[in-house]
Amino acid sequence: MKKWECTVCGYIHEGEEPPEECPVCLADKSMFVELVEEPADEEKTASAGAAAKADASGPSTAQQRLYAFTSEQILKHHLHPIMSHTPNGVLPMALVFLLITALFSFSMFDAAVFYSYLFVLLAMPLVLFTGYETWKKRYRGALTPIFKTKIGASVVTVFLLILLTIWRAIDPDIVTEPSTGRWFFLGLSIVLVGAVGVAGHMGGKLVFGGRNTKREN
Ligand SMILES: [Zn+2]
Repeated sequence: MKKWECTVCGYIHEGEEPPEECPVCLADKSMFVELVEEPADEEKTASAGAAAKADASGPSTAQQRLYAFTSEQILKHHLHPIMSHTPNGVLPMALVFLLITALFSFSMFDAAVFYSYLFVLLAMPLVLFTGYETWKKRYRGALTPIFKTKIGASVVTVFLLILLTIWRAIDPDIVTEPSTGRWFFLGLSIVLVGAVGVAGHMGGKLVFGGRNTKREN
């Protein structure tokens, strides 16, 4: 039986042909490569030599070296999954506080919502940068449906965070005082939690999606 590896997410498929689309990341059939037996020692040495050569002609300026080092650390220490827990952890909590504020007009919870949004907004550059680097390096920047969805969800998240933070800064009574605007604010906050939920779900699919299938190598 032949084995095929999805070059986007690493999913292994067994069969004579690769699947029409990857069940994990939805990459097209063309993204699958056939897995061949372990290369012989000679080949290994040759490729190691080639890799060393590539390294030598690699990043030269201090700035390029710093970038290469940063990028390597992001992947090595899984900084994107760590950073993405900021929006995924804080925003649902903020939504609960927002509901409490809207229902009972507790100003203390209202302030908590504002600072939560501000905190997540300030963390977003790191969430996005680590995500971008992971996508480029680990998934070769493949624009498959799963990544398009993640990018779309990120755009919605950043847009809504900026909008809601500025809105609350300009109009501090928007949630505490009864008005139509308050319900819009609440509605957009629900969409915001939905967007980070979608991005997180897709991330989970990429990381854990292939786990139910046997991976023998
Ligand atoms: Zn895949």
